[in-house]
Amino acid sequence: MNFADLGLSEELLRAVGDAGYDEPTPIQANAIPPVLMMKDIIGIAQTGTGKTASFVLPMIDILAHGRSRARMPRSLILEPTRELAAQVAENFEKYGKYHKLSMALLIGGVSMGDQIKALEKGVDVLIATPGRLMDLFERGNILLTGCSLLVIDEADRMLDMGFIPDIEQICTKLPRQRQTLLFSATMPPPIKKLADKFLDNPKTIEVARAATTNANIEQWLVPVSSSDKRGTLRDLLRQPEVRTAIIFCNRKTTVRELNKSLRRSGFRSCEIHGDMEQPQRLAELELFKAGEVNILVASDVAARGLDIKGVSHVVNFDAPWHPDDYVHRIGRTGRAGATGTAYTFVTAEDGENIANIEKLTGQKIARLEAKPADAAPEPEGDEEKPQRARGRRRGGEQPKSTVRSAEKPRRSPAPRATPAPAADEDAGGWNGPIPGFLDARIDL
Ligand code: ADP
Ligand code: MG
Repeated sequence: MNFADLGLSEELLRAVGDAGYDEPTPIQANAIPPVLMMKDIIGIAQTGTGKTASFVLPMIDILAHGRSRARMPRSLILEPTRELAAQVAENFEKYGKYHKLSMALLIGGVSMGDQIKALEKGVDVLIATPGRLMDLFERGNILLTGCSLLVIDEADRMLDMGFIPDIEQICTKLPRQRQTLLFSATMPPPIKKLADKFLDNPKTIEVARAATTNANIEQWLVPVSSSDKRGTLRDLLRQPEVRTAIIFCNRKTTVRELNKSLRRSGFRSCEIHGDMEQPQRLAELELFKAGEVNILVASDVAARGLDIKGVSHVVNFDAPWHPDDYVHRIGRTGRAGATGTAYTFVTAEDGENIANIEKLTGQKIARLEAKPADAAPEPEGDEEKPQRARGRRRGGEQPKSTVRSAEKPRRSPAPRATPAPAADEDAGGWNGPIPGFLDARIDL
């Protein structure tokens, strides 16, 4: 299959060629022709399969005919997060470079003045997050009655973020006669319901679930106790093959604290989570994209669908609570044919989460044995210490002393993925097994 077989214009094919793409991905090959035929579609495919171009490309050709009118966008793309909205805008610029289309980005955290000005003039494409769009709508600054093409992207994440009522509202403000495209990595019942209500006789295109267990991603479970996570992470990150890594945590506070701790240990890291202001988030992301830092600590919401090239490693510092999140997280690596490695830390409490992940992906994930010295405490005085000491004193979840587990022989099913050699352990000065050290602390 070739891009030229899909019915796209010469200008678009040129832009696609400039982008360096040889062949459409399966979702693109199957979605682009019906979209060009003005059909409603539901596109289901895992993260990283090129869903963006499967609507951006045909939209550019559809919108090439016709003109925009003041305050009335001709098409609307809804994205769950500011970053994803910005990424879709970048895609429009990249593929639309031989077209004269106007675009506005409507996202929280940036000044509304410029956004309103752009809208006043009229735009061909409006890319928005639901919250900001509703704000503007209520102020009477925008009319959606001229909007004959709607894209609901990342629908499952919209659901997670509680945007479905907003989307329903927005849908009622668009003309009935329109084309609607819905894209999602998964199809939970509320999304199915949304599609039934707002799409007209849609064609469903589903790229096989089997693709979710991307063969290009080497996956490992790393058994750790909660208190050993940071040390184990540092060792993993010191492996020479780790060029760039995204570290996922389940909570925003963990993101912040972990980033601080990594920086104290001399790593070049930054962070991104839902509590940050937009300019700050984009700035952090830019640091990572530009290679100023090579480690990004992230929460699920902030990182959903982010398209960052060449991420060599993903580490789930916390095993995700939802199996879908696992697929999304590890999908940050091994993108578009590249290979990647994903490590997932598992504590004694994560058994059920892992079982659910393995059920969803239909794949058993191999286990790595944690490195002996991983278990040693870290030098910095951080917030987790008191909790750690308490846990041990009570002998609750971590009955074995760290020192004892440090004496276990290392066993790894893959030499390539074996954590860093002993030389690295000396870096911090505290990482060697120091008999009695932990006990002394606990007795304080
Ligand atoms: P999704 O929305 O499905 O998560 P994206 O649209 O963000 O995926 O695309 C994932 C990555 O694949 C991006 O880096 C994009 O540039 C790249 N990509 C998209 N289409 C192609 C293609 N036909 N050939 C090669 N790479 C592609
Ligand atoms: Mg996407």
